[in-house]
Amino acid sequence: MFSLPKLDYQYDALEKCISKEIMELHHSKHHQTYVDKLNAALENHADFQSKSIEELVRGVNELPKELQKPVRNFGGGHYNHSLFWKFMSPDGGGQPEGKLANDINSKYGDFQKFVDEFSAQAVGVFGSGWAWLLDDLSIVTTANQDSPIMDGEQPPILGIDVWEHAYYLDYTYKRPDYVKAFWEVVNWPEVARRYNNS
Ligand code: MN
Repeated sequence: MFSLPKLDYQYDALEKCISKEIMELHHSKHHQTYVDKLNAALENHADFQSKSIEELVRGVNELPKELQKPVRNFGGGHYNHSLFWKFMSPDGGGQPEGKLANDINSKYGDFQKFVDEFSAQAVGVFGSGWAWLLDDLSIVTTANQDSPIMDGEQPPILGIDVWEHAYYLDYTYKRPDYVKAFWEVVNWPEVARRYNNS
């Protein structure tokens, strides 16, 4: 059965972007609920309990009919949040280095143009969803808890949760301010590691 992953930092460690209060609710309540509901959905499906979360989410459309919706929503929620916590660090911010930096510059012109494009896409998500950077350095968005891997993509190398639960207590309706602050906590060494392994 699936379980809530431990964070690599304290709840108050990302306050350059996200308050302790949001982090605690987001991780210990929202993410925990996705895990619990995923486990409940799989209770009578022992044959799927040993799969990794990535396998389950990637193969959502081939699952038995009654599992497709819970795995899409709660499995997607568990998968997306597990990535999201890794994409941020108390030592984050700044700019990427090495091959990732060079390739971002080649594709977008410079780092700031990339930040502007990613931010515009994140701000532009209608309703609840995510913005992602894929391993070909394209930027995509998904609705709800959908993941790009449901469409056959490789795992995203960066992503931001733009559900209101991710920012409303800190920023109310000002999603652009949350997205702007996100760059202060992006864990670029982790993004680069995922990019180089892709
Ligand atoms: Mn969330």
